[in-house]
Amino acid sequence: MEKQRFLCRVEKEITDHSVLKNEVPLGMEVALVQCLRCGVMGIKKLADAK
Ligand SMILES: [Zn+2]
Repeated sequence: MEKQRFLCRVEKEITDHSVLKNEVPLGMEVALVQCLRCGVMGIKKLADAK
């Protein structure tokens, strides 16, 4: 499982997210991610990784 740091849209903080791009292919630039702290899922541009 790939991990990246993104801004969590619920917590408004930078947290570790798991990147589920292999499970849900959305293209090269975006990925389905899940916050590892609160569990919220969302779509993030990979370029927005912190
Ligand atoms: Zn979160």
